[in-house]
Amino acid sequence: MLLPPNDWLPQAPLNSLQLDWLAAAGIEVAILRLDQIDPLISGNKWFKLIEHLNAANRAGAEGIISLGGAHSNHLHALAAAGKRLGFNTVGLLRGHPQDTATVTDLQDFGMQLHWLGYAGYRARHEPDFWRPWLEQYPTLHPVPEGGGGLRGAQGCMRLKDQVREQLAGLGWNDYDGWWLACGTGTTLAGLVLAEAGEHRVYGALAVPDDHGVAQQVEAIVGVSEPTYELFDASRGGFAKVDPLLLAFIEQTEQACGIPLEPLYTGKALLALKQQVEAGKFPRGTRLIFIHTGGLQGRRGFA
Ligand SMILES: *Cc1c(COP(=O)(O)O)cnc(C)c1O
Repeated sequence: MLLPPNDWLPQAPLNSLQLDWLAAAGIEVAILRLDQIDPLISGNKWFKLIEHLNAANRAGAEGIISLGGAHSNHLHALAAAGKRLGFNTVGLLRGHPQDTATVTDLQDFGMQLHWLGYAGYRARHEPDFWRPWLEQYPTLHPVPEGGGGLRGAQGCMRLKDQVREQLAGLGWNDYDGWWLACGTGTTLAGLVLAEAGEHRVYGALAVPDDHGVAQQVEAIVGVSEPTYELFDASRGGFAKVDPLLLAFIEQTEQACGIPLEPLYTGKALLALKQQVEAGKFPRGTRLIFIHTGGLQGRRGFA
């Protein structure tokens, strides 16, 4: 049924990031390009899926059923993985039928879609939400929204190995910390688990404070002395964009050729610039910035 994901482990390139504001502050950044792991499957969402796929395998499932919105990076990665690795996928979508670039891809990848409306989607946290779906699709394994939870985090622990293997190529013997965008904080939690205190993890929140990211991270990593820090990078709300952000993304793309999207990676890099300029990091600091992908969703902003 499901190909064990261990047989197919894409490699994210790690490249030096050259930007004038980093050079001015004496900070070195390497960017881990999760947007470049595969032509179809992109971003942190693949890593968040790995342990869910392993669990589905152990349960003898023939595919995965999950949920998301009409621009969802998670459903996109899941549908692409289903096509690439040859398993069935069903997507439960928020709202009413819409034709977005993402939805077209989901259909092309062979994902079967059901639109839940808004109220129907809000019921996703209720205890018996999955029951009728698993009656309809008894051979599928359910994965929570965004591929979250402990399993999602465990898949992201592999990112540390991918960086370690490539440090020498950059001429680095070590690094001081990670900087990445957070939505639920699952990816960050995976890094915190993998580091076990060895290096700090800095999370740029793409959602406002009241989304409970800190609590979700704590629920995964425990409450002992935190080795991570969270910064508000949401700029007034999730998916809110403003001229300064858009200008920054354009300048960055021109300066280094790396495409960013405005919801996560653009906000995360802008928040890093603000912290660097505020003197958060001493000269000589070396950071790993994660490009978490999401470029497919950018088409919704064109
Ligand atoms: C989902 C997503 C994130 C947030 O990941 P979490 O594990 O939920 O914190 C960041 N960047 C991109 C591009 C995403 O699609």
